[in-house]
Amino acid sequence: MSFKWMKNVREVTPYVPGEQPQQGRVIKLNTNENPYPPAPEVARLAKEMDTDKYRLYPDPEVTELCDVLADYYEVKPENVFVGVGSDDVLAMSFLTFFNSEKPVLFPNITYSFYEVWADLFKIPYIMQALDTDFRIKTEDYQVPNGGIVIANPNAPTSIAMPLCEIEKIVSANEESVVIIDEAYIDFGGESALSLVNKYDNLLVVRTFSKSRSMAGMRIGFAIGNEELIKALNAVKGSYNSYTMNMPSIILGSESVKDDAYFKETIGKIVATRERTIAAMKKMGFSILESSTNFIFATHEAVPAKKIFDELRNQNIYVRYFNKPLIDNYLRISIGTDEEMAAFLEKLASILK
Ligand SMILES: *Cc1c(COP(=O)(O)O)cnc(C)c1O
Repeated sequence: MSFKWMKNVREVTPYVPGEQPQQGRVIKLNTNENPYPPAPEVARLAKEMDTDKYRLYPDPEVTELCDVLADYYEVKPENVFVGVGSDDVLAMSFLTFFNSEKPVLFPNITYSFYEVWADLFKIPYIMQALDTDFRIKTEDYQVPNGGIVIANPNAPTSIAMPLCEIEKIVSANEESVVIIDEAYIDFGGESALSLVNKYDNLLVVRTFSKSRSMAGMRIGFAIGNEELIKALNAVKGSYNSYTMNMPSIILGSESVKDDAYFKETIGKIVATRERTIAAMKKMGFSILESSTNFIFATHEAVPAKKIFDELRNQNIYVRYFNKPLIDNYLRISIGTDEEMAAFLEKLASILK
């Protein structure tokens, strides 16, 4: 079907998230969600929520959550920006900071949303090739550019880049904003947060979706120089003043307060990850060095697509990307020990 107005429509190729099966008993290891619930106080507060307050708009400045995060990460509230998941924070950052004729740089294998936003906002970009071990080549980011975005640890490779390499990139690019997307940093690797007071062009982006078990609440944030945060707030205020809803602000703030629970669940996931990697290596998988809550694996004999299909037939969902260079790999989120035991058992029967 073709209508006369179609020539004026913005053409986009949307980002494709992993499947969210809405019913049935499945083991869901395809979107890097946390298998453990949020901190216990979050459940209590959610039950006691004063719903009369929902009549009102939420605080457009999201002061409560910015204050809690500033306190936790030992920065000033003026250094914190929050949004509806880090996807919102990243999209807003692209819109705010990538406004040059020069291309924005990011790896050819990384979070595929970067390319989608660059296209959507008509930002020129170059995707720099990883090396043959799926590592980011620092020198590729020391060329003229209009901005840089790097996921560290990277996804779906799971590999972390040393902080000294990140610092080289940030210090070599005074005229561009460098965004470090630390969606998985709580599971391994060194955070660039220690550099935000040293470099005014560094923006570190984090999410509550993975390590903080709150993907459903949609909370993300950025930490950086006060002027970067002001610029982000100005663009956000020109687009939608009330991005964060009231329950997310209240429950997100509460979840940060239980640091012992947070560290305990991360510790469990890292331990399960290491056990899963050891078991899969014995089955003939090669696995990249993971600093995340997922693993990226390829089998010596059986094609990834075949394993993906057979697991799915047995209600175990993992992620398969039908893309050059990674089309023989599977990305497997780390679930509970019980889920991973069931996964390994099915895997063994498929490989037999
Ligand atoms: C999951 C993920 C995000 C987005 O997370 P939100 O749920 O929107 O906070 C951003 N970047 C990377 C690399 C991710 O894996």
